[in-house]
Amino acid sequence: MKWTKLIAVCLLGVCCIVHFSDAADAAAEAEPAKVKVMILDGQMKYKGHKWDETTPVMKQILDETGRFQVEVVTSPKRGEPNEDFQPDFSKYDVIVMNYEGDDWPEKTQKALETYMAGGGGLVIVHAADNAFGTWQQWNEMIGFGGWGGRTEASGPMIWWQDGKIFRDTETKGKGGTHGQNADFLVTTRDPKHPIMKGLPEKWMHAKDELYSKMRGPGKNMHVLATGWQSPDQRGTGKDEICLFTVTYGKGRVFHTTFGHDTKSISCVGFIVTFQRGTEWAATGKVTLTEVPEDFPTETQTSSR
Ligand code: ZN
Repeated sequence: MKWTKLIAVCLLGVCCIVHFSDAADAAAEAEPAKVKVMILDGQMKYKGHKWDETTPVMKQILDETGRFQVEVVTSPKRGEPNEDFQPDFSKYDVIVMNYEGDDWPEKTQKALETYMAGGGGLVIVHAADNAFGTWQQWNEMIGFGGWGGRTEASGPMIWWQDGKIFRDTETKGKGGTHGQNADFLVTTRDPKHPIMKGLPEKWMHAKDELYSKMRGPGKNMHVLATGWQSPDQRGTGKDEICLFTVTYGKGRVFHTTFGHDTKSISCVGFIVTFQRGTEWAATGKVTLTEVPEDFPTETQTSSR
């Protein structure tokens, strides 16, 4: 082969490679790789928390965005041996916890700690923050929790006051309560955060329990929204933190105290913040920026 021919063939080859890699880049840009989600369920201590009903709805909420690839991992039943329950967290970008039951074996706890410290994602939904009251690193991950034997030894009671997180180190007693299961007003506290961007400053969340008197180490918490319920409905009359993030090592946690049952998670406010929060915990970004037309308003709940 002559030199000129060889050069021409080489140039053609280079052009093809450049062309194909451009096409591959464009395809990657058009459709980013799906976020791999594990919904972990299998136990709830309180019988009103029906994980077998809420998990399929959570999966549907994530699936309908087209952004996630969701797998459900179900633990052994309550009271059954769970020594061999060792989900491979590292296969997923984010773990959604819909579990509140038996303590895990130490090696499973350590595996979650390692996964999170190394940059994993975790989403805590409602009663998941009742779990594992004495597992110190879990409590660091979730910021605060209720029930599960939590007392002043677990950390201060935490709520929102005067534009910041308030930590009550004086009050003693159990952590975790809620008022009537009812609609309540939510106030956005960081409208610039990607999970909250474009959402109304105030909106009505449909029929749920507003968790309050929550306790925990409360480190590295960033508050996104609070809820308020009148003492007439057995609320505390305080601004209760209900949507927030926690950083744990290189890991990201999105914590929503919403989600008592299938009605609560059908609220469009839950749906949007859960979709965005799950993406944010997995990637640190939110591409699901659209605000649906049926988002609740300051006076009207909205459910699907
Ligand atoms: Zn509940």
